[in-house]
Amino acid sequence: MRLPIDIDTVKGFIDPAEGRALYDAALDCATRGACLEIGAYCGKSAVYLGTACKAVGGVLFSVDHHRGSEENQPGWDWHDPETWDAAAGAMDTLPFLRTTLRRAGLEETVVPVVGRSALIARVWATPLALLFIDGGHTMEAALADYRGWTPHLAAGGVLAIHDVFPDPADGGRPPFEVYQRALASDLYEEVEAVMSLRLLRRV
Ligand code: SAH
Ligand code: MG
Repeated sequence: MRLPIDIDTVKGFIDPAEGRALYDAALDCATRGACLEIGAYCGKSAVYLGTACKAVGGVLFSVDHHRGSEENQPGWDWHDPETWDAAAGAMDTLPFLRTTLRRAGLEETVVPVVGRSALIARVWATPLALLFIDGGHTMEAALADYRGWTPHLAAGGVLAIHDVFPDPADGGRPPFEVYQRALASDLYEEVEAVMSLRLLRRV
């Protein structure tokens, strides 16, 4: 894997080992259909997924309302003051995403979709070869992503979920509960686990 930019210069929450697994999955899936991620933030995962998509002529849709998750808000552990838009009185990570995509030469591969995930899912109609869920961590947001987007995943497609923490001491539970729900549905088999990333294949 060769990334077009120094990934350490991109703000974000994906470990290089997880990024590598996402890259490999996208390289395999992107020839068969569109890929989509929920939770763009400043484009770190989009660089891994997008670089793989570009290599095989694929497309990545990158969904985010760009107002940040709960834990990204001022006063919370994962707040970055540079993402604060004073005029809006809210976070805005879209300019960072655009800068990342331009620098990485991915503007013809990664399509930012700006809005609330559940709203976009409601009108989405394109089958997906890879779906990466890395959005809000409240139960409401995580479940809405699972319920709204997994019906669009094609047979044989990969469902990737980030921030899966089996031990509650390591982090919040909703992504783990969504992961368990997917396994319990018998529609998925686990392919790989890297840190808090889980890769499942839709059977
Ligand atoms: N994948 C990123 C990290 C994503 S952080 C990386 O590689 O670094 C989670 C993102 O989900 C935040 O940017 C937040 O704005 C977004 N998000 C949270 N809830 C959302 C929702 N309901 N709809 C759209 N985006 C949401
Ligand atoms: Mg995450």
